[in-house]
Amino acid sequence: MPTRIKHDHTMTLLKNPRPRIQAWELAKQATPERLLCARAALKDIRAGASVFEAVSRHPLEGGGFVGKQILVAAYRELVQTGAWAEEPGLLARIRLKPMRSLSGVSVVTVLTKPYPCPGKCVFCPTDVRMPKSYLPDEPGAMRALQHEFDPYEQVRSRLDTLTTLGHPTDKIELLILGGTWSSYKREYQEEFILRMFDALNGVPSSSLRAAQQLNEIATHRTVGLAIETRPDHIDLDELAWLRSLGVTKVQLGAQSFDDQILELNKRGHSVAETRRATALLRAAGFKIVLHWMPNLLGATLAGDRVDFAKLWDGFCPDELKIYPTQLLKNAELYLNWQRGEYHPYSTEELVELLAELKAAIPEYCRVNRVIRDIPSTNVVEGNKRTSLRMDVHALMRSRGQSCRCIRCREVRASLVDLDGLETKDFTYPAGTAEEHFLSFVTPEDRLAGFLRLSLPGPASPPTNLVDLAGAALVREVHVYGQSLGLGSEQSGAAQHIGLGTRLLAQAEEEARAAGFARLAVIAAVGTRGYYAGRGYQLGETYMVKDL
Ligand code: SF4
Ligand SMILES: [Zn+2]
Repeated sequence: MPTRIKHDHTMTLLKNPRPRIQAWELAKQATPERLLCARAALKDIRAGASVFEAVSRHPLEGGGFVGKQILVAAYRELVQTGAWAEEPGLLARIRLKPMRSLSGVSVVTVLTKPYPCPGKCVFCPTDVRMPKSYLPDEPGAMRALQHEFDPYEQVRSRLDTLTTLGHPTDKIELLILGGTWSSYKREYQEEFILRMFDALNGVPSSSLRAAQQLNEIATHRTVGLAIETRPDHIDLDELAWLRSLGVTKVQLGAQSFDDQILELNKRGHSVAETRRATALLRAAGFKIVLHWMPNLLGATLAGDRVDFAKLWDGFCPDELKIYPTQLLKNAELYLNWQRGEYHPYSTEELVELLAELKAAIPEYCRVNRVIRDIPSTNVVEGNKRTSLRMDVHALMRSRGQSCRCIRCREVRASLVDLDGLETKDFTYPAGTAEEHFLSFVTPEDRLAGFLRLSLPGPASPPTNLVDLAGAALVREVHVYGQSLGLGSEQSGAAQHIGLGTRLLAQAEEEARAAGFARLAVIAAVGTRGYYAGRGYQLGETYMVKDL
C-alpha cells in the first residue's frame, strides 16, 4: 500500500496567505465573465423570468451557472453605479431562491501539487506555488492552494459548497487538473485518487480497489474521472494504468497539428504522437478532450484556420477546449514578444477567428471553452476579455450561423416531451475506428441525450486489455435534464425517462449488426450498478456484455 501523501509546504512560500486568500475568494466569485452573465440574468428576472430560468439562459463559458451570490453582487454593482434603482423585491427573489443544479452532474475539480513538468512549452507560465501551467489567481486554483493540494480536503470542501448552494451531490464528475498527470509518481497518483474516493465515500479505505467498490454504493458516486496529460505519455502501459485508477476521460494538449509550430513552441512532441495517443485512447474507450491553441508562436490567422480543420481528420475529439495563447509575463514567450517575434491577436481578430471556427464544428463535439479564464491582469498584450463566447455567438447570428456543438444544443433544464424525440445516428470515421453518435433530439434540434458507440476497425491499435478483446465500445452515455437523485423520478425531465436504456439497446443492436460479439462500457465506478441492472458484468475494469 502506498504511503500517505505528505503535504508540500507550499503555504510557507506565501507570507501570511490567509487574508490574501479571503480577498481572492471574494474576487474569484465575481469574475468579469460571471458578472456579465449575472447582469444578463438579472435583466431577464426583472422582465419576469424565474431565477432558475434566467440563470440557465446565461450559462458560464466553462460550464455551470452563476450562483446567487454573484447575482446579488451584480445587483449591488448596478445599484451602486446608479444604473438601477433599488428594488427590494428583486433582491429578495435572487437571495432566497436556491440555485438548483441544471446540468446532469456536479463537477468537482481538484488540483495536484506543484511538480516540475517535463514540458518546456514557451507559452506556459511558471509559478513556484502552483502546478505547472496554473496561476494562483485562476478560478479553482486558490481553493487548491488553500487546502495545500490535499485531494481529500479539496473534495470535501467542494462537496460542502455544493450542498450549501443546494446542488445535488449524488453524481460527481471528478476532474483532476495540474500540469501533466502522467509525470507524477504512480504512488502519488494512486494515493491521490484513493483520497478523493475516501472523501466521497465518507470513510477511508485500505486500498484503491476497496475504495472503488465502496463508491459503487456510496452517497456521492463518481460518474466520471478525468485527468490531463501530454500525447507522448500515452502508451499501452499507461492505458492499463489509467483504467486501474478508474479514469474515464483524458484531456490531451494537442495545441497544434503543425510539427514546425510544435517545435517552435517547444512542445516536445510531434503531431504523429498526438495521432497515436488519440487512436490508443479511442481503442480503449476513453472520452477524448483535446486542447487546441490558436495564436501560438509562429502561427498566423490563416494558418490557424487550416490547422483547426485538421482536428476533424482522424483526431475527432469528443470535447474541445480552445485556448487562444495568452501572453503572460512569467512565460518564455514574453521574451519572444520583447524581441518583436510574437504578436498576440486583438480581441476583434480573435472573435472573428472563433466565429469562423465554431461554424465548422461537427455535432458530435462539445466545445467546453473558447478561452482560458485567466484574470486579465496577468495578460500583457492582446485580448484580455474572457467572455468571448457571447460576442462570438452574436457575430455568428448576424451571419445567420449557429454553433451545432453539443454544448450549444443541450436541453439544459427544460422538460422534454418524450413523444416528440427523434433518434439520430451520426456516423463518422475517426482514424481507424467508426464512430456512431447516437442521440435523441427534440423537434427544435435540442439534444436530450446521446451515446458514443465506437467500432474499432481492422487497423485499430490493439490495447492488450482483456475486457476489450473483440469488443465494440460505449465511450459515453449522457442524458440531460436537471440532475436528480440516483433513485428519484421526475416525470418529463430527460434524465429519468429511460433514454439511457434506450440508447444502450440501440448501441447493442448496432454493434451486433456490425459483427461484434461483445460490448464494453468504460463505466465510472459509481455507474457500475446502472449497467449491472442492464445485463452488464464487471470485467477487469469495464462493464461488459456478450451480445
Ligand atoms: S506540457 Fe503542459 S504543463 Fe508542461 S510545460 Fe507544456 S503546457 Fe505547461
Ligand atoms: Zn457550441
